[in-house]
Amino acid sequence: MNTRFFILFSTLTFLIMIFQNCTNPKPEFSEDVHSFSNPNDVVVKHIDLDLNVDFANKIISGNAVLTIENKTGARELLLDSRGLNIIDAFIDDAQSTNFKLGESVEFLGQPLSVRIKSNTKKVTIEYETTAGAAALQWLEPPQTADGIAPFLFTQSQAIHARSWIPCQDTPGVRFSYSAKIKTEPGLLALMSAENPTKKTIDGVYEIKMTQPIPSYLLALTVGDLEFQTLGERSGIYAEPSVINKAAKEFEDTEKMIAAAEKLYGPYQWERYDMIVLPPSFPYGGMENPRLTFLTPTVLAGDKSLVSIIAHELAHSWSGNLVTNANWNDFWINEGFTTYLEHRIMEELYGKDYADMLASLGYQDMVKAMEILGYDSSDTHLQMNLKDRDPDEWEAGIPYDKGHFLLRTIEAKLGREKWDSFVNEYFKKYAFKTMTSDKFISYFESQISDKALLDSLNIQAWIYGPGIPKNVVKVESDAFTKVEAQIETWGKGIPASKLETDNWTTHQWLHFLRNLPKGMNRDQMAELEEWFGFTETGNSEIKHEWLLRVIENQYEPAYPAIEAFLTSMGRRKFLKPIYKKMYEQPEMVAFAKFIYQKARPKYHPISVDTIDRILEWQG
Ligand SMILES: [Zn+2]
Repeated sequence: MNTRFFILFSTLTFLIMIFQNCTNPKPEFSEDVHSFSNPNDVVVKHIDLDLNVDFANKIISGNAVLTIENKTGARELLLDSRGLNIIDAFIDDAQSTNFKLGESVEFLGQPLSVRIKSNTKKVTIEYETTAGAAALQWLEPPQTADGIAPFLFTQSQAIHARSWIPCQDTPGVRFSYSAKIKTEPGLLALMSAENPTKKTIDGVYEIKMTQPIPSYLLALTVGDLEFQTLGERSGIYAEPSVINKAAKEFEDTEKMIAAAEKLYGPYQWERYDMIVLPPSFPYGGMENPRLTFLTPTVLAGDKSLVSIIAHELAHSWSGNLVTNANWNDFWINEGFTTYLEHRIMEELYGKDYADMLASLGYQDMVKAMEILGYDSSDTHLQMNLKDRDPDEWEAGIPYDKGHFLLRTIEAKLGREKWDSFVNEYFKKYAFKTMTSDKFISYFESQISDKALLDSLNIQAWIYGPGIPKNVVKVESDAFTKVEAQIETWGKGIPASKLETDNWTTHQWLHFLRNLPKGMNRDQMAELEEWFGFTETGNSEIKHEWLLRVIENQYEPAYPAIEAFLTSMGRRKFLKPIYKKMYEQPEMVAFAKFIYQKARPKYHPISVDTIDRILEWQG
């Protein structure tokens, strides 16, 4: 090509690009393949809920009044809904308006289109939930710890908010909210908001949340609950029989808040309260702002599993403050949070403790790579979840690979520089969203050392498979001691002679994970007799032991598998156990036998996952 012509051509192309950029500014909200909403035209800024929680019929019904901002004069508000029965819709002062539910799409539900005017300020949706709403779990009294009153809790992440509130169910859109919740007298209603601490006589609660949050952090729970204060800014809710144990287990919460603030700046949500839910809660914890939801499986009695609080608290910065713009970038929430969790634990319990946590995290990452395949695109930090269920990730990728990317950056950059970067990052993007691309360009704008950027090759971590070679290594002295004991046992020294005094939960986990493959019945019986793993009250240790029981087909402990799987619904424990049983032809019938019994007690999110694993046909 002629050089002069080339220069002219390039200049013209450049001018056209500038012109296009001026006329087509980048939309505020990036594309979200899991939402039907149209926030670039009309965006929801606030929601007022007036809801009745009806335990007899297992229905939430009432009104959601959405305050909107119409940026383009659009005549249609598009919301997400899944399984909602929409009764009516109004605009502004009770003017009736047309609405339409579109075609149903797998995982996503249906778009709800509401006719609006260019100057409409408020849209009211009258609706009720239906059976099988993915966010809701209604528990009968026997399914609770005390067995006296019914219980309800929600789980809105990732895209289940739309199954109990019509909303723009995308993490990019933030709104404040208020709620009037009416339920049975004798029950307490709590939300991800400023909460009551005492029951009212009539069962009516007025709750408000002034800080804007994305829909996946909308949360509600109703039950026979009590409150105990833990400190100036924190407290715990639980059923009466659980409250004292929970308060004891989490008594270090104020110290954790102080440690987190020292590292990452002021806590922005005023209060940090927690609730211990009944055992069917599908997750370890859920970072609902101002009210973390927790599984009772972390109540080990010796605070050995409290890193979960550090994790959920850390979400007050990473996730709740700086939020992944869509679920493909879930690592932005979870990788950062896992990294922060480890830093908080290091601050409180020292480097040896944090090294053990990191070492277990590395093992989890490797395990996920083995399950998915090192070359699989599912091992990229940025996932491609189009046409897929955003709840179906392997934690080893967004959580652990994400954590190890940030750990690797810290190692190359130096802790001081990295910490000041992270502090600025939280300040600059507070109450805003983040994507992988945005993170990379912000990081590159702050770090001028080109050679360092090249050696980090963040792109390979985020857009490439497997574990990049520059990953920082973790070594744990405490684990080296464990490995020595496993070796000793392998040489025929009896379990009773092993030096295991004062081992922490994490050392036991490392021990169980690294036992020799193909142990015989006598070896399993010896471990069981000496260490009593089947009887332990520590859910993490029990879970790891039961995996060895399945692998080695140690039948005397089979009743313990059934007891464990029917006693709680935490997906992190259910998934590997059912999966391992299903992989062994002789255990498939037993897995299905247990699941048949347990399935009605599990949360819909866990049911979805286990149905898939066991190819369950209902
Ligand atoms: Zn998390």
